[in-house]
Amino acid sequence: MSHLKGRRAVITGGGSGIGADMALAFAEAGAEVTISGRRREPLEAMAKRHPAITAEVADVTSEADMTALFERLGEVDIVIANAGAAESAPLARTELEQWQRMLDVNLTGVFLTLREGLKHLRDGGRLIAVASTAGLKGYAYVAPYCAAKHGVVGLVRALAQEIAGRDVTVNALCPGFTETPLLEASVATIVAKTGQSPKQARAHLQSTNPTGRLIQPAEVTATALWLCGPHSGAINGQAISISGGEA
Ligand code: NAP
Repeated sequence: MSHLKGRRAVITGGGSGIGADMALAFAEAGAEVTISGRRREPLEAMAKRHPAITAEVADVTSEADMTALFERLGEVDIVIANAGAAESAPLARTELEQWQRMLDVNLTGVFLTLREGLKHLRDGGRLIAVASTAGLKGYAYVAPYCAAKHGVVGLVRALAQEIAGRDVTVNALCPGFTETPLLEASVATIVAKTGQSPKQARAHLQSTNPTGRLIQPAEVTATALWLCGPHSGAINGQAISISGGEA
């Protein structure tokens, strides 16, 4: 499969989880892929796995980092704002710093990535934000994450209106609980705070997916590949649930 030959893709948070799966699949589909994140080691480990993958250290919450990253890259065809993080606490015990951290990485990071990406996007370009089912419905104990992900869906819908009629699109992917390091961190938090076993915590999370099982990164990647493939130019401003149900 080489339908992305000659296309240049940027994937934030490409050193692990969903972003790493996307990076390999997009490289295998023929794209030149730049992955970014804060830690150099996982990015370089991914870059060793395929010659078309290049690693760049950049923090999505830093305007200077994101501006410099896209300046270095020049023109791009595919921008995937995937970097994110999830911390949990009851709202009454959520510190302002935690609220701000969640908004910074999950919402402002997407804003900066899409804004800089749009400036450098060639005709036929595709912008994708990895939101979450937490952008479509509420989950207990993750109000800042949910608020940020709802914000991402709103941002995508607004930008879609601005760019409709141009030969570029923007869409949000909304996976349910997905088997990645982020999920393992959520399991560890539940274990620490409730005394449940890791097996019980994982079973609880997967039971909230309409699938009744965890989503695999490859299922999210397949949706992104479809949005970047031929004949997807009329899909714009959508928040696509990848959970086995509506959200
Ligand atoms: P992950 O493996 O933890 O990936 C998150 C990536 O984001 C990491 O590579 C991390 O790298 C990067 N990142 C975090 N903060 C960053 C920052 N400030 N600047 C740049 N990069 C940053 O988890 P994942 O599950 O694949 O998450 C990918 C996306 O999917 C996230 O937006 C997440 O909210 C979303 N999502 C996940 C699930 C799930 O159940 N796993 C469900 C729905 C949506 P560094 O730490 O090196 O920066």
